[in-house]
Amino acid sequence: MTDWHSITAAITAATGQPCHPQSCQELGGGCINRAFVLRDGAQAWFVKLNSARRLAMFTAEAAGLEALAMAEALRVPRPLCAGTAGDEAFLVLKFIAFGRAGPRSPATAGHQLAALHRQTQERFGWQHDNFIGATPQANAVDSDWARFWQERRLRPQLDLARARGHGGRLQERGERLLAACPALLDHDPPPALLHGDLWGGNLAYDQDGQAVIFDPATYYGDREADLAMTELFGGFSADFYAAYREAWPLEPGYPVRRDLYNLYHVLNHLNLFGAGYLGQAQAMIDRLLAALG
Ligand code: ADP
Repeated sequence: MTDWHSITAAITAATGQPCHPQSCQELGGGCINRAFVLRDGAQAWFVKLNSARRLAMFTAEAAGLEALAMAEALRVPRPLCAGTAGDEAFLVLKFIAFGRAGPRSPATAGHQLAALHRQTQERFGWQHDNFIGATPQANAVDSDWARFWQERRLRPQLDLARARGHGGRLQERGERLLAACPALLDHDPPPALLHGDLWGGNLAYDQDGQAVIFDPATYYGDREADLAMTELFGGFSADFYAAYREAWPLEPGYPVRRDLYNLYHVLNHLNLFGAGYLGQAQAMIDRLLAALG
């Protein structure tokens, strides 16, 4: 049984306002966690729950949301508090009502994503490790982008795949691909603030038609990695891409890099959800190796 008493006490402590919700409704739609909305008069809180051992996932998510909010580029739900209550971990965000059928402005979202990416720092990575889905994501900083992608993104997923029994061809071809990262990433992107997990399910529009991004895996990286992920499962319109490119054109060679960036997410799906993603991962690696000539 969820210890709502401790969670509402944490909300009270975080806001300085007594929180006595009149309703608590479970929402569907999350991939990894259970989600609820607590309503207290005009106030509403979005609460994610998982087992207590997942607390690090929630504190990392809160830190990512804070960093994205500080950029003031796209609307982001403000994290309020995270902690454990009994044997569960919780994360509380300000609830945002999404406008399912209302106005929406994907062109504004495209411009705003470019504005987010204009936030840069000196090196790639981040001050916290975090998670991509439920998989740990290492963010120790590096000034070399190709090495960062090779060592902090692709190699850990390939190692995890080996541990899950996907050896043989995937590993052989994967090793060749790792060695080819400097050649495939032969461009010089600035370390840009990324959402990090920007599939269509992690962007929605509020009731004013403003884009809202949530559930991030934030770090500083090549902005093309965010754009690549928007293309992996669809959901973003031509207006969105046109506006992004108008604000900040892409460099030649993006289509090949897109595959290299999305391979990370496909390998992560292989590791999280199983062999259904093996064929797609192998095909991407083959395509990338063929692109080397
Ligand atoms: P998970 O980590 O389990 O994938 P998400 O953070 O993606 O969960 O949230 C699940 C769903 O809840 C989202 O698809 C979105 O529709 C909704 N949601 C996320 N954040 C908020 C929020 N702050 N307010 C209202 N609804 C939200």
